[in-house]
Amino acid sequence: MIEELIRRTAAEDDDAIEELCEIADADPRRLAPYQGLMLDLDVLWPAKLYRAAGADVVRRVIERIDDGRTPDRLNHLLLILAHCAHPLAESAMRRWSTQPPVGADELHVGALSYALEGGWTIGPDDSRRDLCGDTAHRWVMRETPRRADGPTCPWCASPLWVAVDLDTAEPAIEAALTHAAWSGRLVIETCHFCACYTTLYSRVTPSGSATWWAGNTRPSYLPDAAEPEDPPALLPVLGPALPNPYQASAWNRGGSTLGGRPDWIQDAEHADCPGCGQPMDYVGLIGGADLDDFGEGAYYLHLHQPCGFAAVNYQQS
Ligand SMILES: [Zn+2]
Ligand SMILES: [Zn+2]
Repeated sequence: MIEELIRRTAAEDDDAIEELCEIADADPRRLAPYQGLMLDLDVLWPAKLYRAAGADVVRRVIERIDDGRTPDRLNHLLLILAHCAHPLAESAMRRWSTQPPVGADELHVGALSYALEGGWTIGPDDSRRDLCGDTAHRWVMRETPRRADGPTCPWCASPLWVAVDLDTAEPAIEAALTHAAWSGRLVIETCHFCACYTTLYSRVTPSGSATWWAGNTRPSYLPDAAEPEDPPALLPVLGPALPNPYQASAWNRGGSTLGGRPDWIQDAEHADCPGCGQPMDYVGLIGGADLDDFGEGAYYLHLHQPCGFAAVNYQQS
């Protein structure tokens, strides 16, 4: 069945691509035995089909980049290496960051920056850092009363939205935030309106305090809100554990997820920490479909514990 789907995908059958993606999200290892065929048939996209790639497949991709005969495929090949995150991929990407492969002049970013698409980065100490956790839980929306006298957005005057209120005293939450080294209560407060236009940062502490960061810069394209808007009267609470980190959905109802890997609608957009300039750790996503009957897009939550910053950004199709 998978072989048939791959052949249909090679013929650009959208339904087959979707089915393969569903398999990649449900159990990435199921595709591993077929990745050689995928390379043979030039099925290089979406890169998440290669999440569980083994050394043989990774070597073939690296050789194909090194031989330089298909520079027009370089973008897709680097995305594959980013998603598989294999140690061989990492060392090749480090090598290309100083010795760019053929075709690299057509890319928008350096080879090593592709790592962000797979949720990892190389830190200032030259070690690898995974930005995402391996455990994930569904977020279930719970009605929450509007705060009468809470803080408001300095830009649009809307009451700030408590996007999450987490505490690592709960073992499942502790597990989901282990990669971010967070311990204590984590409240992330943002403007649900302005976050749709730019990444909004706040200062956070393990006592659960959250403060709008004075360094947030209002973008010139931010529309003037006629009237302040009430934020969603919903707070995500811990739902069932998910079988793997790939179950978040930025599109579907019930897709909001604590931990695991983000389902980006556009290219990966791990927020850079204003304190240190490094990409922040990923906390989870809240889908617009879970906030509103007509909601779209998704809010992505980020954290950098060493600097005490949280961030929220938003993507839509
Ligand atoms: Zn605002
Ligand atoms: Zn930082």
